[in-house]
Amino acid sequence: GSIRQNNVTNGNSPLKLFTHAKMTITDIFKNIASFVNDSSIYLADVMKSDKELLAIDKYKDSQQLKERVNRILSIISRDHMKVVFFGRTSNGKSTVMNAMLRERILPVGMGHTTNCFLQIEGTDKMEAVVLIPGSEELKSVHNLSSISNALSSEKLDSDSLVKILWPKEKCRLIRDDVVLVDSPGIDVSTNLDEWIEKYCLDADVFILVISAESTITVSEKKFLHNVAQRLSNPNIFILMNRWDATANEPEMVESVRQQHLDRGLEFLCDELNLCDRKEASENRMFFISAREALLNRNTDPSTSPRSGYNEGEVDFSEINRHNDDFPGYRERLHEFNKFEHEFEKCISKTAVQTKFQQHTNRGKEIITFLCETIANIINRSQTNKEEYLTKLKETEDKNVFLEHELRSMTDSAKERIRHVSEDVYKRVAQTLNDE
Ligand code: GDP
Repeated sequence: GSIRQNNVTNGNSPLKLFTHAKMTITDIFKNIASFVNDSSIYLADVMKSDKELLAIDKYKDSQQLKERVNRILSIISRDHMKVVFFGRTSNGKSTVMNAMLRERILPVGMGHTTNCFLQIEGTDKMEAVVLIPGSEELKSVHNLSSISNALSSEKLDSDSLVKILWPKEKCRLIRDDVVLVDSPGIDVSTNLDEWIEKYCLDADVFILVISAESTITVSEKKFLHNVAQRLSNPNIFILMNRWDATANEPEMVESVRQQHLDRGLEFLCDELNLCDRKEASENRMFFISAREALLNRNTDPSTSPRSGYNEGEVDFSEINRHNDDFPGYRERLHEFNKFEHEFEKCISKTAVQTKFQQHTNRGKEIITFLCETIANIINRSQTNKEEYLTKLKETEDKNVFLEHELRSMTDSAKERIRHVSEDVYKRVAQTLNDE
């Protein structure tokens, strides 16, 4: 009930964990940038007035931080969640992706068109474009057939990557920073290591699409073995697609399902050792019909709804009345929704951990370095002050003390630096806890 409602209205999708964390970490780094700025002005002053208070290499290090923080900010702005789809041709990868996108973005059932890697990512522009490797030209695409045309008119290697930049405003998944990669069908001749090296090392989730009429092939298993060797504990989902085929043999459904489940669990849990059987059977294997899910979500094959999945705008009653007669239709739709929810939870959690944890650590490093450097200066000038005071007592020479006071920083500047650094510390610690 409520899970589905949330997905539909886009109010509280698990993907928000990532988008929210991205906003927070951007804020934090903007704060760090202003702290770095203040500190470097202060340190430059110290350097000018009293070289004994600050080691030259620390000073040089500090002056490079501004650029470093800006670099991290630009990396954060490009951080996204990435999911790679794979499996044999015609198992329904493109259909699954379209159903998840709630739009017919990818051409379906045209074997040759997905003979390379296809990446769908967001653009702030209003018009979709296709980027083909080796060609500088941006091809704008208005609809599905122009994507297929753009693809089929090119000669592409199976390890080349075509990018489709899709308007963020049109699609929720893309707007929330998910990048989807469709791979060419896996067969025995595929150079799996090269694929993984080129396109999969930064993937947060892998989705294997199998046709319920067949079973996991040797090449698909090999691919996942290689992935598991390169990435520790990859997140893998197995979709048993075309489950609508069982509608004609209702008496067979349970036993066929159990067979698939057994084989899948054996692979995920015993061979790859990724999770326990309960977790895998509840949250990693799903029996779906991508075709039905896509039809349910997007009734008009020639158009893409402007605002994604919005039940209020489209009259589904006609198609649902027809399909409701089909045995297991509702269950399969429910299973697809459940898969999507688990997928969104998994990908956002993983992406936050893998991407933002390292930024958070860098941010802490920078702050710690500056705080220590500044504290050191304050300490030293304090010690110097005491020495001067002693001297002052000895010599009664007031000028020495006054001169020193002028050189050390004013209390209000000290206060400001302390305030900023405490604030940043607090926020970094808090985000880390949240995540
Ligand atoms: P891909 O090559 O793996 O990307 O497969 P496609 O998504 O292009 O699908 C191949 C064909 O299978 C198309 O004609 C789809 O309409 C059809 N198809 C995909 N998913 C399903 C499904 O769940 N049930 C049925 N009956 N057909 C499907």
